[in-house]
Amino acid sequence: MTAPGTQTAWAQDRAHLVHPYTDFATFAEDGSHVIERAEDMHVFDADGNQLLDGIAGLWCVNIGHGRQEMAETIAKQVMDMQYYNPFGHSTNVPAAQLGAKLAELAPGDLNHVYYSCGGSTANDAAVRLVHYYFDMKGQHRKKKIISRQNGYHGATYVAASLTGIHGTKYGFDRIGEDFISHVSEANLYAKPQGWSDAEYCDYLVREFEARIQQLGPDNVAAFIAEPIMGAGGVLVAPTGYHKRMYEVCKAYGMLYIADEVVTGFGRLGEWFASEALYGYTPDILVCAKGLTSGYIPLGATLISDEIYNTIARPQCEGGVFSMGLTYFGHPVACAAALKNIEIIEREGMLDHVRTVGPYLQESAQSLLNLPVVGDVRGSHLMLGIDLVADKASKSPIELSEQAASTVFKGCVERGVIVRPVGDRIILSPPLIISQDQCDELIGAVAGSIQDFIATQE
Ligand code: PLP
Repeated sequence: MTAPGTQTAWAQDRAHLVHPYTDFATFAEDGSHVIERAEDMHVFDADGNQLLDGIAGLWCVNIGHGRQEMAETIAKQVMDMQYYNPFGHSTNVPAAQLGAKLAELAPGDLNHVYYSCGGSTANDAAVRLVHYYFDMKGQHRKKKIISRQNGYHGATYVAASLTGIHGTKYGFDRIGEDFISHVSEANLYAKPQGWSDAEYCDYLVREFEARIQQLGPDNVAAFIAEPIMGAGGVLVAPTGYHKRMYEVCKAYGMLYIADEVVTGFGRLGEWFASEALYGYTPDILVCAKGLTSGYIPLGATLISDEIYNTIARPQCEGGVFSMGLTYFGHPVACAAALKNIEIIEREGMLDHVRTVGPYLQESAQSLLNLPVVGDVRGSHLMLGIDLVADKASKSPIELSEQAASTVFKGCVERGVIVRPVGDRIILSPPLIISQDQCDELIGAVAGSIQDFIATQE
């Protein structure tokens, strides 16, 4: 029985919130699913239903929901000092401590941090820093950024322009097309028939180099990529791809920006995936989400010593580095991030993900026995499931978005939350998931797909 307060919230939400990524047609009718409470691996909706959170909120609740310690840390920091401005020469203790901790955890010499409010603002900051860096080097034309089709980098104007998912752009004005260019994503499932992974990788690297030539090497500043493409469908690149793209960047004096907003903080069993799993050390690493496990918003753009040393001098006599956000290094968010990192370390979560992640991937392979499942792929706690009409031709199901959302609804009825994205189902559970809960997730997805198949017969 829904509490009256919740009914009011449902109505207020429908009347006043401009919901992200929402189909207004169905929203007008259905409104929102009100989630009221969360604990460990579960959330509880307003009707009292317990749901296993298969998507960690939105790729972010890495340590699980409702941790008392996080609440206490946040409350203590509010009482000690909830805010003071970070501009000029003023700082706060948690921001400084977190900066040192991030430098310790990050690969290579990514020793400097620019804080923001989430993944989009951290990517915007990365682009602004790249442009500023090349200006400081006197390379004023080196401004173009190469991104990838289907990459997701956020929803602020520049981050949305870096994003290569066309569905996120319908109807919106496009900016940045003069300096942002997209190359193909690395999608092993969609690679041309008859090609080996290595041939496909060669093709992608050649395409990248050709684009640099076309844009003019003196004009191209950076490449941005997620180690594993998340919202674009959990696409894992062919072996060696990132390292080779990195080497091309270096050959053309470009910077490599790793968007680790999803892959950072343990989702792939490492603090960060770039160097540990793919063997390259980015010049800039962007993180958010798992940095605070969603207990409070925070984003961070980590930059190398070389970039810092180039930008950390006056542009002109008396000039200052005039790029700053009110909430740069917010003390409450930074204190939460420090506690979150401490919990991941203390509970050995990276080791746990190195065991439970392969278990999830292995169990999910059973879904390939279903006639509409074309591909199951991912790594550790990132899993993507493609629904197709025909496995041989990989042709999409008619109204495929409805197929994925039917499976999503079937999972909710089974007490499990998954994420439908286009014709795909995506899973990204909290790092604390057990093997039994992996079985529960995959069982719910299998049952819901079977129900969907039954409706088609
Ligand atoms: N980068 C990646 C890889 C993401 O997946 C996201 C969000 O899902 C973002 C950036 C944007 O982050 P935010 O929504 O916190 O602005």
